Amino acid sequence: MALQLFNTLTRRVEEFRPFDEAGRTVGMYCCGPTVYDYGHIGNFRTFVFADLVRRYLGFRGFKVRHVMNITDVEDKIIRRVRETGKTLEEFTGVYTDAFLQDLKELDCVVPVAEDLPRATGYIPQIIDLIGTLERRGLAYRAADGSVYFSIEKYRGCGCRYGQLVKLDFEAMRVGERVASDEYEKESVADFALWKARVPDDGAVFWPSPWGEGRPGWHIECSAMSMALLGPSFDLHLGGEDLAFPHHEDEIAQSEGAAVQPPGRPFVKHWLHGAHLLVEGKKMSKSLGNFFTVRDLLAKGYTGREIRCLLLSAHFRETFNFTIAGLEGARAQLARIDECVGKLREVAGQVDVARPPADDPLVTAFTVAMDGDLNVSAAWAVVFDWVRDTNRALAAGQMTGAGASAQLAAWGHLDTVLGLGSKPVGEAPVEIVALADERVAAKKAKDFARADAIRAELKARGWVVEDTSKGPKLKKL
Ligand code: AMP
Ligand code: ZN
Repeated sequence: MALQLFNTLTRRVEEFRPFDEAGRTVGMYCCGPTVYDYGHIGNFRTFVFADLVRRYLGFRGFKVRHVMNITDVEDKIIRRVRETGKTLEEFTGVYTDAFLQDLKELDCVVPVAEDLPRATGYIPQIIDLIGTLERRGLAYRAADGSVYFSIEKYRGCGCRYGQLVKLDFEAMRVGERVASDEYEKESVADFALWKARVPDDGAVFWPSPWGEGRPGWHIECSAMSMALLGPSFDLHLGGEDLAFPHHEDEIAQSEGAAVQPPGRPFVKHWLHGAHLLVEGKKMSKSLGNFFTVRDLLAKGYTGREIRCLLLSAHFRETFNFTIAGLEGARAQLARIDECVGKLREVAGQVDVARPPADDPLVTAFTVAMDGDLNVSAAWAVVFDWVRDTNRALAAGQMTGAGASAQLAAWGHLDTVLGLGSKPVGEAPVEIVALADERVAAKKAKDFARADAIRAELKARGWVVEDTSKGPKLKKL
């Protein structure tokens, strides 16, 4: 079976086929954070979802170019810059660094630096795109010098506004404008591409053919995604609240510029992740019902426990965040860790070779995930495997080679889940590798080698204790 994904554009589950079917390269853009504060775990539900998509595409043999922008100029940021008296760079730098650190804490694969574009680094491309829209008659200047996108003109060219959401054009008054970056569906209106400088903007402005000012939020993503992935690409992701107006406006700007090859859309597949809720309401800064990654780390939870929780539900289903849910994720990880730990003991040296294509665990997991990334079914596969493996281990039916094969299969699945293995007393990887080698030496009854490794570990400041649950590393 091929990978099936729900596409917001067609409103159905369909086979994922990139434009480059032969080369299997995929261009994927995920709207990144607005760096005006620390991200909350609702935001990170969306970023962990993007990470899952990226990793699963890799697992299915696609070569993914993953672009994620950093929105570092926008209404909320300008307000905070004004309040704090910092420069734009100082202010956004703190939250950009914190965001990247939190992503790593959650074991997300961070895009390479050039695929993490900052809006302020793309002002010339943004100005170019607005210029193109103006030349095509789709952008106009308002009395204050700001430039707006004309929905009426866009629709007049035969283009469709309302591809991702249903809109009521009867209720819309032609030429009505909205200046703010975020607005509701009811206020479908011409939106700002370039906002003329006002005193409250302080030092945040750039020169442009329309005078000093700054870009609107929506045009930033159109310009950055097309600059890096081309005018027509495969996959665009974000949280469900971004479908309107942000993504609808991205389509209008990008397709309005008519830079796509004939017959090709701006984006082929749109994926929207459902929200993380708290007591039935969206987790958000404005409602104050949020936890940051940092809040939860301070309570003693780990990044992988938070990741495991955020990956527990299907991406199109909302779910409620609770501390009890996080405890549940902790218990699930403990079951996996225990099983993997026992397999390591039996296997001796861990065989990291790729499992065969017909490995039953890998096959069942792939079937589950191919069905619109059905993580619930995938977790069921994982826990059936844990149960069966524990049974085989308890019955003494697991050979060293068998355990190695199971570990290789689990390792392959984990390239998607990204849960890693439990950190052994915070030991660095080379220390864990030595400890694994010692287990292998003992299995091979090479006690002289095992003792030599123990001495080596001690010399490096680590002591290894053999417990009923396997060897444990402790810092001296
Ligand atoms: P922002 O930094 O506000 O631009 O949001 C970054 C991402 O987080 C966007 O893709 C939002 O759709 C997403 N997001 C915001 N709140 C939530 C939530 N409660 N659950 C899931 N995703 C969210
Ligand atoms: Zn965006």
